[in-house]
Amino acid sequence: MKRKIKVGNLFIGGGARVSVQSMTNTPTSDSEKTLKQVLELEKAGCDIVRIAVSNDEEAEACKNIIGKTKVALVADIQFDYRMAVKCADIGFDKIRFNPGNIGDESKVKEVVAACKRNRVPIRVGVNGGSLDKNVAAYASGAEALAQSALIHAAILEKYGFYDTVLSVKSSDVRTMVEAYEILDARCDYPLHLGVTESGTKIRGVIKSSIGIGSLLLKGIGDTVRVSLTGDPLREVEAARLILSALNLNGDCVEIVSCPTCSRCNYDMEPIVDELEKKLYGLKKKLKIAVMGCVVNGPGEAADADIALCGGKNGKAALYLKGKVLKTVPVSDAVSEILALAEKMS
Ligand code: SF4
Repeated sequence: MKRKIKVGNLFIGGGARVSVQSMTNTPTSDSEKTLKQVLELEKAGCDIVRIAVSNDEEAEACKNIIGKTKVALVADIQFDYRMAVKCADIGFDKIRFNPGNIGDESKVKEVVAACKRNRVPIRVGVNGGSLDKNVAAYASGAEALAQSALIHAAILEKYGFYDTVLSVKSSDVRTMVEAYEILDARCDYPLHLGVTESGTKIRGVIKSSIGIGSLLLKGIGDTVRVSLTGDPLREVEAARLILSALNLNGDCVEIVSCPTCSRCNYDMEPIVDELEKKLYGLKKKLKIAVMGCVVNGPGEAADADIALCGGKNGKAALYLKGKVLKTVPVSDAVSEILALAEKMS
């Protein structure tokens, strides 16, 4: 079991549910735009939102965001230790900061003191471009990533700081998986999973699903970020779907649908698309099956809370908890399913 770390109003590790993270891509100095994006991410089901903070102007702007959202806010600090101190003091819930990047340990000591007095944890995040230079001289790949993260964590330990979350991201899925496996075996810090620079919505989602999913299946990982080029809302959707596919998301509607074939009796794809859009925000653990015909339909319906099974002449059978409820016109299928989903607890 990993160490349990409090981040805002939630926990990472120690058996807590796996949380979903993303990062804003609006200019941090524009607090209005950034707050709007944070609130959109919150509505989409994001638990933790990271904001890059590089200077005083950006830190000041964040004062207009802190306290206006339920998500936990993380300040992403690159090299300026003063920003880490300031962000811990102004109310950020977590700092992403690599102590080994600073060089001067007296500055690390100041960051640790600020995090301790504000009870703010730190995420040490190593990727292929930020390996510890000493480690890079004798190790490579997954081993170098894992050792670099542990060296950063050890610097914090020297000052009695253990509220640390680790990440070892790589754009190479096999390297990333191996690095997390090494870390999992060597420490009890909770792990933030991610494939870095994974790409756009199809390639990135595939790489992240394989990397993050294979680790979660082994019980490794406490919080996840699907990194995608573009709109961060897509990251949250992808992460929630990964968790849902692994039955790790307790409040997500799962929609299963057959691939369709020549036996399909109606235009199924628009129905599934509309259900996915309309049910995305519904925080209920429900399984909904949409099936094209009576070949596999009744079997899948038996295992679903709500199911639609294509019949003939523009009609389909609507199932509730495995039993036929009624026959409905296909044109009414979406509204009938939505009404049932709303009513179910
Ligand atoms: S459920 Fe029916 S329509 Fe869908 S793939 Fe199977 S046989 Fe084809």
